[in-house]
Amino acid sequence: MMSDREPQHKIRADHLRRDAFLYIRQSSLQQVFNNTESTQRQYALRQRAVALGWPIDRVHVIDSDLGQSGASAVDRHGFQKLVAEVGMGNAGIVLGLEVSRLARNSSDWHRLLEICALSETLILDEDGLYDPSHFNDRLLLGLKGTMSEAELHVLRARLQGGLRNKARRGELQIPLPVGLAYDDAGRVVLEPDAQVQSTIKLFFQVYQRTGSACAVVQHFHQQQLNFPRRLRLRERAGRLVWGPLQHSRALQVLHNPRYAGAFVFGRTRARRLPSGRTGLVNQPQEAWHVLLPDAHPGYITWSQYQDNQRVLRANALAHGQDRRKSPPHQGPALLQGIVVCGACGRRMTVRYHHRYGTLVADYVCQHDRIANGRSVCQVIPGRTIDLAIGELLLKTLRPEAIELAYGVQQEIRERQAEIAKVRQQQVERARYEADLSRERFMRVDPNNRLVADSLEADWNEKLRALNTAQETANQQMKQDAAVFDDETRRSVMKLVDDLPALWGNPHVCNRDRKRIVHLLIEDVTLIRGKELQVNIRFKAGATKMMSLPLPMNAWQQRETSAEVIAQIDRLLEEYTDSGVAAELNRLGCTSGMKRLFTRLIVARVRRDSQLVSREVRLRNRGLLTLKAMAQHLGISTTCVKIWHAKGLIVGHAYNDKNECLYEAPAGPNIPRKSQGLKLSDRAQAAKVISHPSNEVHHAS
Ligand SMILES: [Zn+2]
Repeated sequence: MMSDREPQHKIRADHLRRDAFLYIRQSSLQQVFNNTESTQRQYALRQRAVALGWPIDRVHVIDSDLGQSGASAVDRHGFQKLVAEVGMGNAGIVLGLEVSRLARNSSDWHRLLEICALSETLILDEDGLYDPSHFNDRLLLGLKGTMSEAELHVLRARLQGGLRNKARRGELQIPLPVGLAYDDAGRVVLEPDAQVQSTIKLFFQVYQRTGSACAVVQHFHQQQLNFPRRLRLRERAGRLVWGPLQHSRALQVLHNPRYAGAFVFGRTRARRLPSGRTGLVNQPQEAWHVLLPDAHPGYITWSQYQDNQRVLRANALAHGQDRRKSPPHQGPALLQGIVVCGACGRRMTVRYHHRYGTLVADYVCQHDRIANGRSVCQVIPGRTIDLAIGELLLKTLRPEAIELAYGVQQEIRERQAEIAKVRQQQVERARYEADLSRERFMRVDPNNRLVADSLEADWNEKLRALNTAQETANQQMKQDAAVFDDETRRSVMKLVDDLPALWGNPHVCNRDRKRIVHLLIEDVTLIRGKELQVNIRFKAGATKMMSLPLPMNAWQQRETSAEVIAQIDRLLEEYTDSGVAAELNRLGCTSGMKRLFTRLIVARVRRDSQLVSREVRLRNRGLLTLKAMAQHLGISTTCVKIWHAKGLIVGHAYNDKNECLYEAPAGPNIPRKSQGLKLSDRAQAAKVISHPSNEVHHAS
């Protein structure tokens, strides 16, 4: 090659004046061809630079990217530094291994070559010396790159072809997910570790029951159960670790067809992302290269797997535009996810709000509002509908009620047994590890203090873990027993033929109630007209129409009962509004919203029920207003108030601002102005007078 024969022709004095940069990295490309000794070969390039005339102290090595697997320059600081040096004209030559190959395959290197051409920087690799500013050398670099790319392609195709052939026969040994393992003969079997096996079985059982990955994760957290994971990298590969179950992990397990005993190949495909990284893209089932159902034992059947995928897809859709079929959530709205607007045909969503401490649900058709800024299509209070649907189900379900309730009881019992088993295995493992640590500690020479100390620390650590596991197990066992003690058992037996009670039982959580509804009902269509029209479509295909009176409006719901109103009517004779409220609360009466009475509530009920006000009542009894009283006594209104305060005249408050109506004074003791007594003394006198019984007592 020309570049090899006459390298010195390309090297000019201005190249030598600048520094040499040796860039070292391990690219995945090189690893395909030659993954040994390449680092040494890269360093050997330095010697060639010295031979070409660069002093050794001016050959800079950039090796900070060694072992970096990032496919984009963004992650490689060394490469960025190199580009900067070349761009600033500090580099006379760049040394690197298989630059020509990289130049074709990596856009970063291609850019570097262009900068090299502009700054007249030479490039040296094992094949030779190039001057990118010369057309011939650029052509050569490009040509070699194209050839190496073709070479790589053939190599890859041959490798892939071999793999696929093997995969087609189901003989390819691909790393298995935790819970499955290869036996000595290379066949796939269920993981021999009993704890792993039963944990994964439990995982699928819980999913079958709840139909939601979130619920499975929650269940594992609540029961303080760990989930296994097998490490894949480096020297710890194959080791089993236990930790809390993550949602992403749960989804991985649910989507992995290997758990259904199917052999698959090509479930994901590598794709180059715009950022330069390679990403794995999941392929739809139709695009998998190989799919062999029932190829090996699994935890679920293939049809179960496909059902699960359908449910997961439906759940995922719940986050999409139409919110079809969301899985049961914890909120009380019974029809969440299955209620359809009869006016426009769209799914209705649930809107919760708090009303005096309880969660109240409305079904809202607000698609048009969100998307187009129009007004809400219709809002229907959820409680009325939920109650009607509950009643309907209870009526419809009479014959099946027994079985259902019995099933629930059975299920609780089985569930607890499964969990207890897994938990016991958790304890067993902790005990085994503690035993192992103890043995290790016993075996070590006690004089070897360093080792003995660390082993002892390890033993203590394992003992602590054992203790924790055991305590958790005991605690949960006690809780289980509490949930299912004799009394509960008896009450469940009582529930066996009483679904209504089960339905109404506050201990049955909303999610379970909703699951029953979702099991039986496909969807419910609501139209709000003169009446509320409810169209129910059952899973089995039957439909049912109901008309419900429109739910009461807010004040109707708040209406206070007739007895309490009568009570208020009576109390108003004696008390002001706040007095009535205090009296009612003392008697244990509550308002329509089940709250304690206040002055304002009493006033509202009084007005709403058109009760005669206390003022009118007092006037009817002949009491005088402030003005009338002042005229009557020939004094100022202020004076009336003072006299009343001092007890000279009798007044009755008709409101809570202490405004009064006054009893017209009668008899010989009509107070007059300026009786020659100090007001304080007269008050004393008035008091005495106002208690004639005392007077009599004095006289006797
Ligand atoms: Zn609508």
